[in-house]
Amino acid sequence: MTVAEPTAQSVAEAARLLRDGQLVAFPTETVYGLGGDATNERAVAAIFEAKGRPQFNPLISHVLDADEARKFVRWNDTAGKLAARFWPGPLTLVLPRSPGSPIALLATAGLDTVAIRAPSHPVAQALIRAAGRPIAAPSANRSGAISPTRAEHVAESLGDRVPLILDGGPCLVGVESTVLDLTSAMPTLLRPGGATREAIEAVVGPIAVSDALPSGSSARKSPGQLESHYAPARPVRLGASTVGADEGLLAFGPTVAPGAMLTYNLSPSGDLGEAAANLFAMMRTLDRPGIGRIAVMPIPETGLGLAINDRLRRAAADDGKDRGR
Ligand code: AMP
Ligand code: MG
Repeated sequence: MTVAEPTAQSVAEAARLLRDGQLVAFPTETVYGLGGDATNERAVAAIFEAKGRPQFNPLISHVLDADEARKFVRWNDTAGKLAARFWPGPLTLVLPRSPGSPIALLATAGLDTVAIRAPSHPVAQALIRAAGRPIAAPSANRSGAISPTRAEHVAESLGDRVPLILDGGPCLVGVESTVLDLTSAMPTLLRPGGATREAIEAVVGPIAVSDALPSGSSARKSPGQLESHYAPARPVRLGASTVGADEGLLAFGPTVAPGAMLTYNLSPSGDLGEAAANLFAMMRTLDRPGIGRIAVMPIPETGLGLAINDRLRRAAADDGKDRGR
């Protein structure tokens, strides 16, 4: 692991690592981010792996400005007003994924929405510009640890799990960005943060707060409280060692149970990073007419396997009330 002062040279090196699918820790005005190419499923899987996250929470994709955001999400007037007032800055907007959006499914935990933000930190901006692509970045700490506001915190928490840390000094805001959902009728605050509710309401009028809502609609979108992210329409059967003829099989490893109607292998070599990268796309592909049920072979409960199994259990536990989304 290298800790580097942000110079033209170190930023170019960081951008090269990102384009190569590797991770870079970098300063934003809120906290240090653990960045990976938001359009690369493997890079996003590596983020979860480095953090040791037992779940796949959707990540924020970082872009330069509203013009760039429009390439990845379905933009609207409210987003335009908010971006004009708060971007670059600590406000994340949740918007529908645009058709053909290259943002990795793992970065949005399989959701049809994308959380997007333009950070104001000059080093973050230089890195996004040099990388030439959106950067997915949660806070650069091991899961459960406190968010890092200095490069030393990142080095202590992630050590050798990240090849390069750009040291931009202490973060000025020091709390995470505000997350605002713009996909429901009324903008809904999913996470309080660096942009205040009052300042947001001054631009768009009254907003809803997810905690205040009954369990339903928007409250379910709130991370952490979220029981199910993307859930397939078909039932999911876990721990399958044999397969029925009406089942689609999500396989793992070199020895695949025979007889399925359709089989996709998360990782023929048994690599959990590759499996995580393929998880949402393969679940979606198996969730199709003609398939009665999705059977899933056992996934080891180690490393990224924790997050994969967490996600699969949620998919299997879904009671169907949200099916048909
Ligand atoms: P972090 O990456 O640790 O800053 O956390 C990102 C926050 O944004 C988490 O609370 C996520 O659950 C939330 N978030 C990211 N993407 C979405 C999305 N598509 N819909 C709702 N919340 C999201
Ligand atoms: Mg965090």
